[in-house]
Amino acid sequence: MIDIDRELQKNLPIVMMPKYSELDALKDNEKRLILGSNGIFIESKCKAIHCRLKIAPALDIPVPCGYVAKFLKVKQLEEWVKELIVKQSKLALPNEYCLLIVFDADKSEYQIVEPEVISCSPSEVKYKMPELEKNQHIFIDYHTHGLGNAYFSATDNADDKTLGGTYFSVVAGKCDDKNPQFKTRLNIDGFNQDTINLW
Ligand SMILES: [Zn+2]
Repeated sequence: MIDIDRELQKNLPIVMMPKYSELDALKDNEKRLILGSNGIFIESKCKAIHCRLKIAPALDIPVPCGYVAKFLKVKQLEEWVKELIVKQSKLALPNEYCLLIVFDADKSEYQIVEPEVISCSPSEVKYKMPELEKNQHIFIDYHTHGLGNAYFSATDNADDKTLGGTYFSVVAGKCDDKNPQFKTRLNIDGFNQDTINLW
């Protein structure tokens, strides 16, 4: 194998789940694929999110692997963040709205970043992803559907396929209601899974 392949595979190694012991712990900013008796999983770890998601069913042959448990651990999001999001989303009506919640690993805190908006209307919001510092990464990519329902549209699906990284995408709807709708999902390099609300 040549060096470039070695480097590529180092970024996403595949390991077998031991049958009688534990895997070595993942370090921050590492990812791996895990082959288990019950399927294939992806594990990703950073200071704000540590998760293991199932991405494929078990192989149809006997494999000498142990059972893999999925999990999701998240650094708690403060209540003020949700309050700010709801308030800003309402103020933007009838237009859609967008915002990024970034985790700063050096300061161990969440920060609000308003991305550069390219166009905005009651039926779409287009924005440019900002250049982040090395110690920052996107925790939530948030946008609203204004007065419409919260759901992941074809455009949202395409965006999450290309953005890359481990983050949540949240879409809000019915932003004029007392209790707006929220849909949340976890993304790992284009693979995504619906999750419970973060707050
Ligand atoms: Zn959308």
